[in-house]
Amino acid sequence: MTYEKLATPAGGEAITISRSGKLQVPARPIIPMIDGDGIGPDIARATRRVIDAAVERYSGGQKKIVWFPVFAGESAISKYNDILPKDTLDAIKTYVVALKGPLTTPVGGGFRSLNVTLRQELDLYACVRPVRYFRGVGSPMKKPQLMDMVIYRENTEDVYAGIEWEKGSPEAAKIIDFLKTQMGVSKKLRDDSGIGIKPMSETGCKRLVRQAIKYAIRTKRRSVTLVHKGNIMKYTEGAFRQWGYDLAREEFADATITEEDVHKSHGGTAPKGRIVIKDRIADSMFQQILLRPDEYDVLATPNLNGDYLSDACAATVGGLGMAPGANIGDAYAVFEATHGTAPKYANQDKVNPGSLLLSGVMMLEYLGWTKAAKSIVRGVQGAIKSKRVTYDLARQMKGATEVKASEYAEEIVRHLP
Ligand code: NAP
Repeated sequence: MTYEKLATPAGGEAITISRSGKLQVPARPIIPMIDGDGIGPDIARATRRVIDAAVERYSGGQKKIVWFPVFAGESAISKYNDILPKDTLDAIKTYVVALKGPLTTPVGGGFRSLNVTLRQELDLYACVRPVRYFRGVGSPMKKPQLMDMVIYRENTEDVYAGIEWEKGSPEAAKIIDFLKTQMGVSKKLRDDSGIGIKPMSETGCKRLVRQAIKYAIRTKRRSVTLVHKGNIMKYTEGAFRQWGYDLAREEFADATITEEDVHKSHGGTAPKGRIVIKDRIADSMFQQILLRPDEYDVLATPNLNGDYLSDACAATVGGLGMAPGANIGDAYAVFEATHGTAPKYANQDKVNPGSLLLSGVMMLEYLGWTKAAKSIVRGVQGAIKSKRVTYDLARQMKGATEVKASEYAEEIVRHLP
């Protein structure tokens, strides 16, 4: 691959995907990394420090990530005069897996949303957000440790498809006229309505649920819950539920069982090794995450439900500051911090690198480097226990010492088991 302004780093190899869809990871994979804007460079440095130390320790020096700096957002404007240069997309397509810090999407000026463009260009159809509690972090819940869920949110369809027309526009008027004159919905539609369309396809829903069930099987989770609002939107949300059950039956009959079957044929206890497929209406699910979080495991959701649910789940364990995320398709995966660029803290070496670091942990798990991944989680737990933490955690803990982002990274390294 030749780039306009990038030079491939020496000493590494590309991750590839086999014909059967399996990831082939060399000992020294090249991983493109977008440090990001604002606080991005600070947390990216701290993240690389911890990941490199963990990988070195748990491979006895046999493995190493060869980081490949690529650009998007403000740093790309100064280098390329483009917020998402072709070089960056080419590098991610060549090396398959990437890590990304937060990016500023400049307001106005006709800029595309960077995250939406990345998802579309790379067909990253599943937004994956694990939510777990770290002992010692302030939480509004009595038992935050009961929350341990992974949310698979569909990333490309639903009301996010961007099919919308403003009140009074010729397009809105045309649709309203069509619906009134040809579809028989005259009574329900006001002429001063804005119009939005919510497409949800069988293909889009099934591939998301497929990824969620495969993850549940791989990681030995107990259940996959389809979260929907099918009682109101029968042919989109209701169909999501139906397609989810169909997919489980068609492709994972030996590995799954429905909640209904568990009660009908197994006295309420799932047979060993079978993942229970269940569904909940979205509003009920918001109660469940507060009242009975330990009864849920992997959630599979359409786009809008998942957006709300991910943040609500993260709030129960102490907020978004430490919530990791990933956007995963069949070909590529981009792991990313879920917070923004917090520009007021830029270049102060101050903020918590936890979200990007734990996204890096997800990336290591995705590569199959699970020992290094697990050790980083233990390192974070140790650092929190030592109470030498960044300002955001320090202000929620009694007797904590506030340290810089880089010092917090060293504290995590010191606590790698
Ligand atoms: P933000 O950057 O997430 O910051 C909001 C607040 O969250 C901060 O002021 C800080 O709170 C806290 N925070 C965020 N990251 C933190 C960290 N690593 N450690 C500790 N605290 C942290 O949200 P914003 O100010 O609304 O957005 C700023 C820019 O980020 C915008 O340009 C937006 O477009 C962009 N953005 C990008 C992404 C992305 O790339 N994925 C996502 C969201 C927003 P305190 O001040 O209370 O300490």
